[in-house]
Amino acid sequence: MVNAIIFGAPGSGKGTYASRLQEKLNVNVVAMGDIFREIIKEDTDLGREVKEYVEKGLLVPDSLTIRVLKQHIAKTQKGFIFDGYPRTIDQAKALEKITKIDAIIQLIVPDWIIIERLSTRRICKNCGEVYNIRYLKSKVEGICDKCGGPLYQRLDDTPEVIKKRIQVYEQQTSPLIRYYKEKGVPFIEFKTKALETPPEVAVEEILKGLKKLKLV
Ligand code: ADP
Ligand code: ZN
Repeated sequence: MVNAIIFGAPGSGKGTYASRLQEKLNVNVVAMGDIFREIIKEDTDLGREVKEYVEKGLLVPDSLTIRVLKQHIAKTQKGFIFDGYPRTIDQAKALEKITKIDAIIQLIVPDWIIIERLSTRRICKNCGEVYNIRYLKSKVEGICDKCGGPLYQRLDDTPEVIKKRIQVYEQQTSPLIRYYKEKGVPFIEFKTKALETPPEVAVEEILKGLKKLKLV
């Protein structure tokens, strides 16, 4: 059983790699953003509270986030890959009380690649499938292969906003990277050098890193 955290900027491929690793390693991906989006859909006090923060692009307060995380992972016995958690040192400390972290997977992607990828990204309005008008085209332009839904561009997928998002990511993440390095948690770094790095290549490298650490 392996527990890992994956860190990567928006557009780094984090979600794609995590879901592929989930299948190969038989672990659960805990994607905090997805968990919150599900909670928001439920018409509950908790859902309404979470919505207030997420809609404004703010972090959900630690106490609430930690409570939601605990509930979520109590349900399973498998290992985890955490995606979008922790985002603060307090969240990292809370996680330590719940489970041991065996490795950190850090995706390192140059800014220009992130900007190029995200500004050409398209998302299905219906099912959320992700496409790219240059690198991952749908069969019919503007239409989802999976469900026939219309594809749209996220409002924050413009170069100016992407630059800002990268900055925010760096600011939020660097203290956490430092924290785990100081703790001596092993790091698996994957550096993307080319725009069109196939996900299989990244996933193979990450698996190699986990094997080297004797975690799989
Ligand atoms: P993004 O990478 O675009 O921020 P996510 O899907 O990871 O997207 O998260 C969506 C939103 O959910 C965040 O903007 C934030 O409001 C909330 N969120 C996600 N993870 C956390 C976390 N660990 N702590 C607090 N809030 C979080
Ligand atoms: Zn679709």
